[in-house]
Amino acid sequence: MYRFYINNTDDEYHYLELGREFLPDDGFEVIPYSGASLEGLLPDKSFFVNPGMSGDRDAIKREMYGLLADITGIRPPWGTLTGVRPLKPALEIARASSVEEMTEEMRRKYLVSPEKASLLADIARYQLENVKGQPWEKASVYAGIPFCPTRCAYCSFASNVAPPEDRARYLEDLIRETAYAGRLAKEHGTKIESAYIGGGTPTTLTAEQLSELITALTGAFGIDPQKTEFTVEAGRPDTITEDRLDAMKALGISRISINPQTMKDETLKLIGRDHSADDIRRAYSMASGAGFDVINADLIAGLPQEDEKDFEAGLREIIGLGANNITIHTLSVKRGSRLKESDPDYYRKNTETVSEMLDISRRVLSEAGFRPYYIYRQKHQIAALENTGWCMPGKHSIYNIRIMEDKQTIIGLGAGAVGKVYCPEEDRIERIANVSNYGIYSGRFDEMLARKDEYYR
Ligand code: SF4
Repeated sequence: MYRFYINNTDDEYHYLELGREFLPDDGFEVIPYSGASLEGLLPDKSFFVNPGMSGDRDAIKREMYGLLADITGIRPPWGTLTGVRPLKPALEIARASSVEEMTEEMRRKYLVSPEKASLLADIARYQLENVKGQPWEKASVYAGIPFCPTRCAYCSFASNVAPPEDRARYLEDLIRETAYAGRLAKEHGTKIESAYIGGGTPTTLTAEQLSELITALTGAFGIDPQKTEFTVEAGRPDTITEDRLDAMKALGISRISINPQTMKDETLKLIGRDHSADDIRRAYSMASGAGFDVINADLIAGLPQEDEKDFEAGLREIIGLGANNITIHTLSVKRGSRLKESDPDYYRKNTETVSEMLDISRRVLSEAGFRPYYIYRQKHQIAALENTGWCMPGKHSIYNIRIMEDKQTIIGLGAGAVGKVYCPEEDRIERIANVSNYGIYSGRFDEMLARKDEYYR
């Protein structure tokens, strides 16, 4: 067990987060300390950090990063940045000075590797060129469908395999909540910048149900999908049918997500997806035929028993199938997932393979004309790496960008939806969450409605 005595702090949180990127939870301790110097007095494997009593948290983190790198021999590429939104500080610096200065600053202040600093620079350039307007001038709307055909091995979302009558009952409540929230938004003059139906798998709803939900959302919030970005996460290819695609197109939806995660049949089976790579091919050909303007795909680096070649072949095939907006995720093995239970230390393994996969994705996507446009990290990702959204120029998702900025109100509807209210005066976000269990959501529906009032308090 390693022990880090951090001088002149009473808050161990940030140092614990940093330590976790190098060592297992039970392999180290962080002890806030304030008193006489402990230098030379500590036993083996114990370290006295910040002997100079600095009040600069970034400087203390750099010192601790150096110690941890010496102990473990690893240097996580995101340096001392432990938060989930590495772009946030980067964009602030880029806006105040320049992208070049930001790159320097990320390396100096946060010890970010040259590759990741250059990735941030590419994303900052894309956003500065393509994203206009202040995020807080408008709001986004998110509606969640917490149902899936089966549950994936790595899933930790609000997803349920439920009978049709449960889905129908849930939809009724969701539409009532939509009408209520839309009325409030109109009363308060809230303008909508983007709408997103996510999950779960929204296409577990029938074509008629999807039409009902889209109509309810556009009507309640006064959205014209021809003018306002409106995305439906079709998600699982095994739920994509011509009638569902037609229903969406008929209502003006031009953006969907079809999420393969991998194009390898063995892996799909292993992670419990219950569909084949051929289903993915069929779904893409249907969506391209139906004329959707933006087709997003999610791929995951680090799935069990996949190597770099599998990953690259899958990525190249997805590009060939017509996806023009691709998010490359690093597998995150969270508590509550089957994968975490069967192999608790999975996310610490495979570091080199996954880093190589991310390098491949950058090379292949750049060569194909894609540009990186948003980025975020999650806890428990392999090697503390990242998820990056790539798009062909102009095919970005403003919803994805806004959600990462944390500077826009997002009205969350349905079970598992986590909304946010942005207060520009204080540059602060307040979360307003619905319950995640769909049965409890319906059971406590009046309370869910009352939470909508909180957006305007
Ligand atoms: S499709 Fe997504 S939400 Fe559904 S079970 Fe798989 S990971 Fe979970």
